[in-house]
Amino acid sequence: ARPRAYRGRFAPSPSGPLHLGSLATALASRLEAIRHQGEWLLRIENIDPPREVPGAASAILRTLEQHGFAWDGPVVYQRDRTSAYADAAECLLSERLAYPCACTRRDLIRNHQGLPHYPGTCRTGLPPGRRARALRVLTHDRPIGFDDRLQGWHAAYLESEGGDFVIKRADGYYAYQLAVVVDDAWQGISDVVRGIDLLESTPRQRHLQDCLGLLAPRYAHLPLVVGREGTKLSKSAGAAALDTGCPGENLWRALWALGQQPPRELRTGEPRDLWAWAGEHWALDALRGVTTCSAPIHPNQ
Ligand code: GLU
Repeated sequence: ARPRAYRGRFAPSPSGPLHLGSLATALASRLEAIRHQGEWLLRIENIDPPREVPGAASAILRTLEQHGFAWDGPVVYQRDRTSAYADAAECLLSERLAYPCACTRRDLIRNHQGLPHYPGTCRTGLPPGRRARALRVLTHDRPIGFDDRLQGWHAAYLESEGGDFVIKRADGYYAYQLAVVVDDAWQGISDVVRGIDLLESTPRQRHLQDCLGLLAPRYAHLPLVVGREGTKLSKSAGAAALDTGCPGENLWRALWALGQQPPRELRTGEPRDLWAWAGEHWALDALRGVTTCSAPIHPNQ
């Protein structure tokens, strides 16, 4: 078969400003799209209002612009896509691949690894007198795997590793796993380049793609950029927002974190100098098998 035209994306959740780790993710997926002469789309994943920080979405877009990112087409907001998620959920329900569930967190048990596991209580119908709260998708115990471009073969047995999972939450919002699969397919994404913290989610997404008859993208899961003490940099953990006064230096540090070696003199360069260098030298392969990396320290931190 003819390979699909390359189309990548960056899909931040507006739970805080960009930090160096999310800048590195954006940069790697953008540079891969450039390397493949493909497109690169931007999607704001604002389907989780309880975790949304007001103003974060526009701050993320502004920061990307300041760092010289350009994206194709209009920004997609997941908040506007609810009816597509509802259609997908309806399709799974009508195929009996999903079912209403009355259980709460207290009904979960621990599996052999000590992790929360849904025992399938509502699979065959709601227990008498209980009311549906969420929707879950049926899982099975055949391995679901994929060949990650950086991390190699990765597979999961979903039924024993967590069990049937939620696609629509008790608070009425659609779950990330469903939304991301519906949108990646709808936007024609051929290649997902994102953080390794989502590696464990990917078999769930592959399962939903199979259930919905959607073509799966290729995946590349980037190493986690850790802080000085080896701690995760995450928006929700309050990692330092980027100092937008020095976008060139931020790009330089992100490139180093991504295993690239931009010359020292570019550290004080303008974003366009860094993009020009990266356009010539970018090599995703430097990250093959790498699961964590740290970034050069910013002088003001
Ligand atoms: N919205 C997710 C996040 O910010 C990323 C989703 C994805 O890349 O699939 O962590």
